[in-house]
Amino acid sequence: MKWYNWLFLVFMLLVHIPGILLGYLWVLVLLPWACEKPKFEFPAILTAEWRDWVKDKWKYSTTLSRGIVFQPHIRKFKSHRVKRHERVHVRQTEDLTFLSLLVGLVVGIYTGDWWLAGALWFSGPAWQLPFFVTALRFLKPKPANVSWFKHIAVNTMYYESEHERSARGQVNEGRK
Ligand SMILES: [Zn+2]
Repeated sequence: MKWYNWLFLVFMLLVHIPGILLGYLWVLVLLPWACEKPKFEFPAILTAEWRDWVKDKWKYSTTLSRGIVFQPHIRKFKSHRVKRHERVHVRQTEDLTFLSLLVGLVVGIYTGDWWLAGALWFSGPAWQLPFFVTALRFLKPKPANVSWFKHIAVNTMYYESEHERSARGQVNEGRK
């Protein structure tokens, strides 16, 4: 990495303080009972892997901001597709938190309410949630063999959200 990459990384980590706290807290809460083997991975991402009793019930690797809990077998590979996929989600929450910081700054400057400004900044990682609603633009007729819950919540709201489509598309294109 060049010096300007390092400089920008430090900038993004400062911007992403809400995402760092949220992601680390999530992994730390899960550690005593649901996940294990925590490790810091570059750049400042806290990862872990599901414990045996979870990994068969929940067959996914899951990212919340800067915390990622992997399926154990995926963690062993250096540049697995799922690893690259989950890192797209980290970058997405970085970008959203930069937006929320800018909105917070505007609100703080115009209202003088810096508590509200800070709350807006810290809400940044959650700004991904509306994408689950707008994903309903891709709703199709329900196939007979799929439940309504799976059709709407999983196959449409989850899989067709723009952040999910982007992560899959970037990995399919072979981007790092
Ligand atoms: Zn995903």
